[in-house]
Amino acid sequence: MDAHRVVVVGGGILGTMHALEACRRGWEVVHLEADAGPRRASVRNFGLVWVSGRAAGPELDLAVRARELWEQLAAHSPAVGFRPDGSLTIARHADELALMAEAATQPDAAARGFELLDADGVRDVNPSVRGEQLGGLRCSRDAIVEPGLVLGALRVTLEATGRYRWLPRHQVVDVGTAGGGRPVAVDQLGGRHEGSAVVLCIGDRLSGLGGRIGAALAAAPLRKCRLQMLQTAPAHERITTALADADSMRYYPAFDLPGRAGLPEPAATTSEAGMQLLLVQRAAGGLTIGDTHTYDEPFDFAVEERLYDDLRARAEAVLGWPLPPVVRRWAGVYTGVTDDRIYYRTTIDDGVVVVTGPAGRGMTLSPAIAEETWEELTR
Ligand SMILES: Cc1cc2nc3c(=O)[nH]c(=O)nc-3n(C[C@H](O)[C@H](O)[C@H](O)COP(=O)(O)OP(=O)(O)OC[C@H]3O[C@@H](n4cnc5c(N)ncnc54)[C@H](O)[C@@H]3O)c2cc1C
Repeated sequence: MDAHRVVVVGGGILGTMHALEACRRGWEVVHLEADAGPRRASVRNFGLVWVSGRAAGPELDLAVRARELWEQLAAHSPAVGFRPDGSLTIARHADELALMAEAATQPDAAARGFELLDADGVRDVNPSVRGEQLGGLRCSRDAIVEPGLVLGALRVTLEATGRYRWLPRHQVVDVGTAGGGRPVAVDQLGGRHEGSAVVLCIGDRLSGLGGRIGAALAAAPLRKCRLQMLQTAPAHERITTALADADSMRYYPAFDLPGRAGLPEPAATTSEAGMQLLLVQRAAGGLTIGDTHTYDEPFDFAVEERLYDDLRARAEAVLGWPLPPVVRRWAGVYTGVTDDRIYYRTTIDDGVVVVTGPAGRGMTLSPAIAEETWEELTR
């Protein structure tokens, strides 16, 4: 396909990374966003560039490539707030530490930057961890970006190319064909946006599009997940790594090892609400803490306080000191594939592609996913 103009639909991280990759390849980009500004999963997440938990093989390879791309992007757009801080998963039971030891001896442990630490080693790496613990698993490849800043920072980079047009409040309702067979995205007011390609990165907004795209999405192997999150006021110390508790090993495929069966019986709330602790300090000092996982739609419109009680207790158990006051609470929804793909990309018509479904790894993988889409589009 010749370099021309692409219409990217969706101003979240996937749409923005696709726009960036297109501009990098010399394309003109028209970027449409339904809302006044992106307000969905891409601004509600932890900002974890999370290599540690990925499944061995293609998923880990994609995450390693994505992390490399994030680092390169951050060199041009420092406002994304990339910090190569790594992470620590904390063990409070011997069986948790045993699973970490097993993970740390897998053939791909070096690619993840895994290192098994005893309790003193944990405190050396992260002196903020002052709760009771037996040790932990360090992942030096994990990194952090600032979800509240990334999209704006990348749009500044895009605008500087002179080949980029950002159109918020433009909801695409259909994609048709213009003269010459080129695809055209049609917005809610009947505006037509023509390109050599239309790339739809619509996140969890899977209904509302008509025609073949609506039909394809209705049959796609995708499901949504809703998560509860909170943020505290700034902490009075710099927390040197992202933190996770050992319940995270119940979910991340990297820990799908024989020792997982030996993990202690989960607490009732953990099973019922799919809970784990992830904790990231924002550049401005506050702590982003989550999360929960619910799959049953329609989702609750409210957030549940008892789950926040559980999250706060988990964080304080790991840190060993009282959290600063909670200042913000929210829920977010992402879309994930239900088959064994890493994410969902499908070509609906010549030059019309839908990309969504990276689940809880979309922030991490987005630059590498965009690279793969463009390799396919320009093949
Ligand atoms: C609470 C939470 C925590 C998470 N933590 C992490 C993490 O730490 N690390 C990680 O790797 N991943 C994380 N994720 C997952 C990650 O945030 C998502 O996978 C990713 O943001 C999805 O990006 P997206 O661009 O596909 O979707 P979105 O962010 O939903 O963006 C889609 C955009 O498209 C727009 N849109 C939709 N339909 C149309 C249309 N028809 N016309 C125009 N615009 C349209 C929407 O308004 C929206 O702005 C988390 C997700 C959540 C919810």
